Amino acid sequence: MKIFSGKTLRIHFKYSSCNSIIDIDSKDLSLEYLILNNKSEKENDLLMFDTDIMLVGLCKKCRGG
Ligand SMILES: [Zn+2]
Repeated sequence: MKIFSGKTLRIHFKYSSCNSIIDIDSKDLSLEYLILNNKSEKENDLLMFDTDIMLVGLCKKCRGG
């Protein structure tokens, strides 16, 4: 299996109501990303070297939890 080849993955989560941003760091997500990345490259003849993902939603507090 192809090892994580220096391609960077950054996943952020933005709280839409309190407007703060946190970074999400997960080995599982990195693996999922690698699969997605390889598939996208193969199917579209691309060379990807950077990914920046911004998830947007509400934190526990803003959800009323
Ligand atoms: Zn919030």
